[in-house]
Amino acid sequence: MSDRPPASLSLDLDNKWAYLRAAGREDWESSDSYFPLAISNIVDVLGPLGLPLTVFLVGRDLQRDEDVESIAKFASLPNWEAANHSLNHLPWMHTMSDEEIETEIRVTHDAIFASTKQTPVGFRGPGFSCPDEVLRVLGRLGYQYDASIFPTSMAPIARAVFLARTKLKGEQREKAKKLYGGFAAMRSPNWPHRRALPCPDASASDDSGLGSIWEVPVTVLPVLRTPIHFSYLTFVAGYSVTVAKTYFRAALTACRLFGTTPSLLLHPPDFLGSEDDADMSYFPGMKMKRDAKLEFMTWALSMYSQQFTVSTMLDQVHQLSPYSTTCHA
Ligand SMILES: [Zn+2]
Repeated sequence: MSDRPPASLSLDLDNKWAYLRAAGREDWESSDSYFPLAISNIVDVLGPLGLPLTVFLVGRDLQRDEDVESIAKFASLPNWEAANHSLNHLPWMHTMSDEEIETEIRVTHDAIFASTKQTPVGFRGPGFSCPDEVLRVLGRLGYQYDASIFPTSMAPIARAVFLARTKLKGEQREKAKKLYGGFAAMRSPNWPHRRALPCPDASASDDSGLGSIWEVPVTVLPVLRTPIHFSYLTFVAGYSVTVAKTYFRAALTACRLFGTTPSLLLHPPDFLGSEDDADMSYFPGMKMKRDAKLEFMTWALSMYSQQFTVSTMLDQVHQLSPYSTTCHA
């Protein structure tokens, strides 16, 4: 094995309207897009580091020509993979009917092919929501992996903070109470693993690879299960860059020590400064100025690429053996 173990990097390309809607803003539908600035900053940071990227796209954004033009800029990276992040980015797929779930995934699947000429084979549910019907649809569409699990010990805290800040009311607020997967997610593995597809005919599900799909969780710190995705890091860096760097170094060391092949996650606000968008000021990590944040992100991503062989999520999955077993935590 190379002394740089395999790893992957992905971006949830959530647009501003999704954040404003989650915050309970009634004018979310008329929101402008921050894609032009965010995507050019992302490409400017990742490109010189030679980093590839899996981009989880929301179908609704593929209906706007300007956003499709911005998304096309990812083609300047060494490699990029277009993946599916649902149609409307509603973070409560567990409350939808089977037909609604099918529409959320299939319409986006077709729109991604139409706009990028890539056939997506990876899916991440908004709000880390992944009911059985999602897996059934992914199986029918021939997807190779799901990435909707966030096995953090901080899910209850994150949900409480979300509910305290959002202005969502009534039915939507009730649905939001199940965000982030709850305590069940904390017991999920923190490493890629095969997951049986829940078929109506149980005998069709097994671990042979026929009735199963890769589950690639968003990696958390081994043992403690605290987040190590970049929005959490920039949130910490907003208070102390030194603490954020120390924590990230320790997290990468722990992943190597425990043989956890990491899959780290980016969001567009990780590449925007407080001066760029006043509407986003409530988002964690939006305290930092743009230059300071981009400097921190460049440092962190450079460290990631020095310690791991970073690929797209699809390439990471291809490198994994269905029966690989290493020491994990
Ligand atoms: Zn998202």
